[in-house]
Amino acid sequence: MSRALYLCGKRDVRVAPFNLREGKPGEVLLEVAAVGLCGSDLHYYKDGGIGATTIRQPFVPGHEFGGWLASDLPRKGLKGGDLVAVDPNHACGYCAHCRAGHPNLCPNVEFIGAPPFDGAMTQTIWVPEEQVVPIPQTFSPAQAAMLEPLGVAIHAVDLAKPRLLEQVALLGCGPIGLLILQVLKVAGAGEIIAADPLPHRQETAKRLGASRAGASVQDIAAWTHDEGAPLVVEATNAPEGFRDAVRASRIGGRIVLVGIPDGDTYMLPAAEARRRGLKIKFARRMGDVYPRAIQLVAAGKVDVDAVVSHRFGLDETPEAFRLHAENAPGMLKSLIFPNSDDGRRQG
Ligand SMILES: [Zn+2]
Ligand SMILES: [Zn+2]
Repeated sequence: MSRALYLCGKRDVRVAPFNLREGKPGEVLLEVAAVGLCGSDLHYYKDGGIGATTIRQPFVPGHEFGGWLASDLPRKGLKGGDLVAVDPNHACGYCAHCRAGHPNLCPNVEFIGAPPFDGAMTQTIWVPEEQVVPIPQTFSPAQAAMLEPLGVAIHAVDLAKPRLLEQVALLGCGPIGLLILQVLKVAGAGEIIAADPLPHRQETAKRLGASRAGASVQDIAAWTHDEGAPLVVEATNAPEGFRDAVRASRIGGRIVLVGIPDGDTYMLPAAEARRRGLKIKFARRMGDVYPRAIQLVAAGKVDVDAVVSHRFGLDETPEAFRLHAENAPGMLKSLIFPNSDDGRRQG
């Protein structure tokens, strides 16, 4: 019998037998190779939900994943045993937002791993064929799983539109921030100055190309002589993230907000934002970004492995949630390997 990790409520996660349902027409069975623990999964864990989306019954999280096909998929030129990635986003395709080219904003979306749709922290999963993304067979399970968060970073940089060699302030150097940092470099951004309260994240940011990394927005202010940066990308989980993005921004600057704040509330003094005349965009998931995510990894332009700090087996996953909720030292991205005892055999 297959097993899965269930989120049952606030700070309540359990590994239990998983009754694999029957596949529907147009679905294909995967053995899950690797699945990422995302900041959004952590919000469900810490807060019991995100905004109006709450855990009403035990559900299986996990939307960043890759797996091995259980059978051939000739329509996509794939064979049983091939490693594939999965786009978790199933937009309706017919609403005004889908037709306008924004499938990430579809109100009818079915998203694998967001309640009530079970996700991939399980050993086997049925997914719609059309959401299967072929990848180079040289990719590791970790790289397959990291394409989804890399897609979020690509979408954020698409919204940010950095000018050539433009200075960028990056707030938050967690996995998404560190992927955004790398994509900004590919997109031609100039000096990237970063802030994160955790020292190991500052170090990783510098290793991946930030010119400077400090603990707070005060460092950004000092480095820009209190002018602020023309472009700010926020990828924190802090209620102060929006306020800090405003403080890091130059008058007339642009801000892209990517993070999901703890408690689902921003703290923002109005005058500081109004007086700067800012242009602000909110990033929501991603659009059709997988082809570029695959190219960036295949060409070695983005190092997704540099962002992965921990690997766990399925039984260790409750511990992984606990460590992340505590901000335990050294944590960046954790990957779960549901079909490996110790999470280290496959990678
Ligand atoms: Zn995610
Ligand atoms: Zn739609």
